[in-house]
Amino acid sequence: MFSYFNPVDLRFGENAVSNVDFTLYGKKAFIVTGRSGSAKKNNAIKDLLSVLDAKGISHEFFSEVEENPSFETVDRGAELFKAKHCDFAVGIGGGSPMDVAKAISAGAKMGKKVADLYAIKDSISCYPVIEITTTSGTGSEVTQYSVLTSPDDKKLGLRTNKLFPTVAIVDPRYTLTMPADVTISTGLDALSQLVESVISKISTPLTDVIAVKGIELIKMSLPEVVKKASSLEHRSNVAMAATFSGLTISQTGTTIVHALGYPITSHLGIRHGLANMLTLCQIVKNAQRFDPERVKIATAPFGGANGLCEFIDSVYPKPKLKLSEKDAEIFAREIDLKAGQVLNTPGNYDFGFVKEIYRSL
Ligand code: NAP
Repeated sequence: MFSYFNPVDLRFGENAVSNVDFTLYGKKAFIVTGRSGSAKKNNAIKDLLSVLDAKGISHEFFSEVEENPSFETVDRGAELFKAKHCDFAVGIGGGSPMDVAKAISAGAKMGKKVADLYAIKDSISCYPVIEITTTSGTGSEVTQYSVLTSPDDKKLGLRTNKLFPTVAIVDPRYTLTMPADVTISTGLDALSQLVESVISKISTPLTDVIAVKGIELIKMSLPEVVKKASSLEHRSNVAMAATFSGLTISQTGTTIVHALGYPITSHLGIRHGLANMLTLCQIVKNAQRFDPERVKIATAPFGGANGLCEFIDSVYPKPKLKLSEKDAEIFAREIDLKAGQVLNTPGNYDFGFVKEIYRSL
């Protein structure tokens, strides 16, 4: 027996925003974007405002989301949402603004600080959330997760089915403006999520089909968009792969690869997708000893695990981190070895194993 639950109304393709009936969600939108202004440059804001204006829907901007967004940013956004009497949230950007839009919609509706939402996850209710993705990586537009950074610098995933966005808009044209470093880190994040989904102990026949298709698209098109940023055909393929990665992890979750990546991002500032790449190969090769069939399916598009690792190296030559013994110990202590991410990974993972992985970086 297996199940599949993902209630997001997904619109994929050029000008997808014009296919959404925003009047269903209210009269005032709360638009959440990042700080660097990418949502303006890639025209996502212009397209959205032309649709909202035509329907007489007013809006308020919250353009303060940083990378690896903090609890504090969410709480400020939720206060503003309430003060301006908004009806629904629109997140525009990569995983950071999209995750913040989800958390703001919950914080504003519940009248609670985001830190308190972690304790009452499944009793949360939210205002409607429309996500417009402009990176091709996290798949957050179709997931029930919001990954936020706590005041003590830990990346914590808030997970509940109540956080599924109402609508996801994926218009690959918005990704054309991504610089090479963002293209690479987000594209590899999608690859990581797809591979992790296949090797997961809770993968299903349906997530396998979606994930393997996504892996094939990344293999075909990620190197092409790194070479030629303006190729809409290949941008569309990577965007589709990223959304597929969100659809699959919304069922299987991720694995210990993501758990290991969070301390690397919070302590060393290495982007999420790149942080995952530092350990993906080691984990896949370890998982191969415990469940060779899963790894065979995940790596078949590359001709096997070695082929996957060569592909990653060709897109992202890994830096040497030179972590001290003490750093490795601190990072390893942050891994919750009882979390689903760890338990669903084929293999046995204890403190010694995790610390050894960090030492090897
Ligand atoms: P991001 O942090 O949202 O954005 C990275 C940078 O890329 C920002 O400077 C952003 O600018 C810029 N950018 C975004 N779109 C652009 C475009 N089209 N052209 C030019 N620049 C653009 O990156 P991300 O990798 O997509 O998201 C990472 C976050 O998502 C992490 O916090 C991670 O933990 C989380 N995540 C969530 C899930 C989930 O399911 N919820 C899954 C995986 C990861 P702006 O400042 O203008 O936005």
